[in-house]
Amino acid sequence: MTLLNAMQAHDYEQVIALNNNASGLRGFIVIHDTTRGPALGGIRVRPYASDVEALEDGLRLARAMSYKAAIADLPCGGGKAVVIEHPEWDRASAMRTLGRFIESLRGRFQTGRDLGLTEEDVRLLREETRYIGCEGAESDEYTALGVIEGMRACVEHLMGRGSSGQPFAGLTVAVQGVGNVGWAIARRLHEAGARLIVADVDERRARAAERAFGARIVAPEEIYEAPADVFCPCALGGVLTEWTIALLRARIVAGSANTVLADEALGWTLRERGILYAPDFVINAGALIHGANLYLKGKWENEAEVRRIYDRVREILTLAERERVPTNVVAQRLAESRLRASKTYRDLFWGEAAGASGCCA
Ligand code: NAD
Repeated sequence: MTLLNAMQAHDYEQVIALNNNASGLRGFIVIHDTTRGPALGGIRVRPYASDVEALEDGLRLARAMSYKAAIADLPCGGGKAVVIEHPEWDRASAMRTLGRFIESLRGRFQTGRDLGLTEEDVRLLREETRYIGCEGAESDEYTALGVIEGMRACVEHLMGRGSSGQPFAGLTVAVQGVGNVGWAIARRLHEAGARLIVADVDERRARAAERAFGARIVAPEEIYEAPADVFCPCALGGVLTEWTIALLRARIVAGSANTVLADEALGWTLRERGILYAPDFVINAGALIHGANLYLKGKWENEAEVRRIYDRVREILTLAERERVPTNVVAQRLAESRLRASKTYRDLFWGEAAGASGCCA
């Protein structure tokens, strides 16, 4: 990969490489597109094996944020910060340095929590920048609500369960990762009468789901072939590969994880196997919808807007069926058409922020 070629391929605006020897901060801020408004996206902290791996993750995730915002018709674009966790760093000092970098962008990039960012990190970042927001548990609930609505759209599309009023009753859902969002989804599904199979690398979380929801536990590597109607990925991205898709027994894939497909072309493989896929950036937009409305418009109550994910997923499923193409292809085309349309009347490089802000991914 050469960086500029990768940027050109998907029209990235800017990539900022971050380095600070004093604190050990290493990472990137990727701003994919600000034609609809400031780039929103969380901070991901991981022990990436290399800076290239971190950069590739940042590029993928930032673009997904732009698509998420465009599909949900929000006044913002997509960005992401990826930070390399390593033994030699002074984490607190690195977070403060990152906060100052973000502040220097004056609202062009507005951020929040993503995987690996702790409450203490957020506290330190907040001392250095206005541009971090995100109410943790509230965002997780909005994401979970959106995933449930998107999953319902898939179930009704495939199984025609709408008329019963209880689309999840008697269904089995395999949840990969019962962390913040996975837990909230599992709880809602349990309340709606679904049976659950769960896997988590943190065994305590899986055991807690067993106690709370009567979930059956399987080993993390066995979750793909679990006998379920729906596979709900809520851990990391890139989990669907040729290999894991071949193992899937579920007929629907609908979960919260970002960039679920290891390669976008795998949408075709899912389609060939007759598996209905709710595109990640459509179904997991709940927190972004809430965050963008809250921080950019001052709108506190966003449940009805998040529930509209149901209509978007249904529209995408219908179009994909009619055109005989994968659902992720349809969703990406819709998102890109909105970005391109925006570019005809909005300037690039969104400037000074309207106010303190931020949002989860
Ligand atoms: P989290 O860290 O709270 O939960 C992730 C869970 O997955 C953890 O319990 C972890 O132990 C488990 N896990 C990790 N690797 C696993 C594996 N290989 N197999 C099984 N379990 C594994 O994170 P979260 O906030 O719940 O987010 C979950 C996913 O949803 C992430 O991909 C995130 O990017 C995405 N997402 C989250 C939000 C949000 O509002 N939090 C919004 C959009 C997308």
